[in-house]
Amino acid sequence: MYEPVIGLEVHLQLKTKTKAFCGCANYFGEKPNTLVCPVCLGLPGSLPVLNQKALEYALKVALALNCKINRVFKFDRKNYYYPDLPKNYQISQYDLPLSQNGYIDIESEGKSKQIGIRRVHLEEDAGKLIHTENYSLVDYNRAGVPLLEIVTEPEINSPQEAYAYLTTLKSILEYLEVSDCDMEKGSLRCDANISLRIGKSEKLGVKTELKNMNSFKAVRDALNFEIKRQREILESGGEIVQETRLWDAEKEITTSMRSKEEAHDYRYFPDPDLVIFTAEEEFLESMRKTIPELPRKRSLRFQQEYKLSPYDAGVLTQSKALADYFETCIKLYPHPKEISNWLTTEIFAYLNEKKISFESLNLEAEKFIRLLKLLELKQINRNTAKEVLRVMLETGRDADTIVREKNLFLISSSADIDNIVEEVIRTNPGPVNDYLKGKENALMFLVGQVMKQTQGKAEPLKVQEVLRKKIPKGGQNA
Ligand SMILES: [Zn+2]
Repeated sequence: MYEPVIGLEVHLQLKTKTKAFCGCANYFGEKPNTLVCPVCLGLPGSLPVLNQKALEYALKVALALNCKINRVFKFDRKNYYYPDLPKNYQISQYDLPLSQNGYIDIESEGKSKQIGIRRVHLEEDAGKLIHTENYSLVDYNRAGVPLLEIVTEPEINSPQEAYAYLTTLKSILEYLEVSDCDMEKGSLRCDANISLRIGKSEKLGVKTELKNMNSFKAVRDALNFEIKRQREILESGGEIVQETRLWDAEKEITTSMRSKEEAHDYRYFPDPDLVIFTAEEEFLESMRKTIPELPRKRSLRFQQEYKLSPYDAGVLTQSKALADYFETCIKLYPHPKEISNWLTTEIFAYLNEKKISFESLNLEAEKFIRLLKLLELKQINRNTAKEVLRVMLETGRDADTIVREKNLFLISSSADIDNIVEEVIRTNPGPVNDYLKGKENALMFLVGQVMKQTQGKAEPLKVQEVLRKKIPKGGQNA
């Protein structure tokens, strides 16, 4: 039995106002080569200065991922020649990175597991190449954007675990509000390396590196493909070639890009333009204080404090915006289970259908809670409430107005219901007879008739009650 050994490398663009070592704006989508200066273009005589915000964001992430912060860290030049790199080196960190030895707790297929974080370091992004058929264009707007590299230990053992790690990591990063984490815009990118070993043997197999995956699902799919490909080679007596492979999402295969250079081929050496940094305990402490309650801890608190199931608590705390919204609602209306149900069913269904995120939802907590109160006060029934919620989400209008305009208030007067029930009994002798013979279904049919007559504005349980009262068993037709 082969066991996959997977390590993941995430590159995260930090959403600082300016680039990592110069004052150029850090902004996506601007005209090519308009956000550049002598520093990020590497012109002679220019000097880099570290962006304090970038350092703070990097430290926040490192602390949230339980990393040990190195008291002394420095920046190094990673030398290589490529058109997207104006200086011919990238400012990165080598032997003294910002932080090391952290971990993340994940849940995968019902089991908890801790994934080690080897290092979190700060570097700068390269420019972007746009390839056309006959030539390539280069845009240096991205060159020098602060980039965080987050590398795991090779402790992930299945594509599903890799997926769980990435969603957990993304959720933490979103809570920290240090990045858009948008894979489509490239602000979060992930590479994977994978090898197979026999059983739990110490000896690792030859690994391949996977690139070009544009979603977490693509990472999972690419790993699944690569496991199968490597297993087939090994089982037929072949050898794995150490190389970089590209995921082709359309064909759902990986293809060879280049054989792997070793890391030391990059010729790292300390950047003489940047000083050696020391992290003071006081400063670290002030950074620690900026870290909010993170998703996993919040989920556990939701389970205890609001008596939610682990599943519901997990879903509600995955996004900070959603978890904050949930807690705002509870302050207005202390019925966590009811609020949780509405959010995880009706509202999630709407988000899925419209393919939008919770953040772009148009529903103020006050308006949402007013709807739940109308339901509690029996001004409307549950089906009507769902209908009203839809209109609220589509139009942003409030529940009272919608209910009033569409005349959706429940018929609350007993006399009105009595009249309709009597009418239904009179016009449906067959089903009445069936009910008297013991067929409970017939009663449901009669309830349905009353609901139809009232256009759904009666409380079904109440209708049932009145019907039972008005058709006494052993009565006239028995
Ligand atoms: Zn610049």
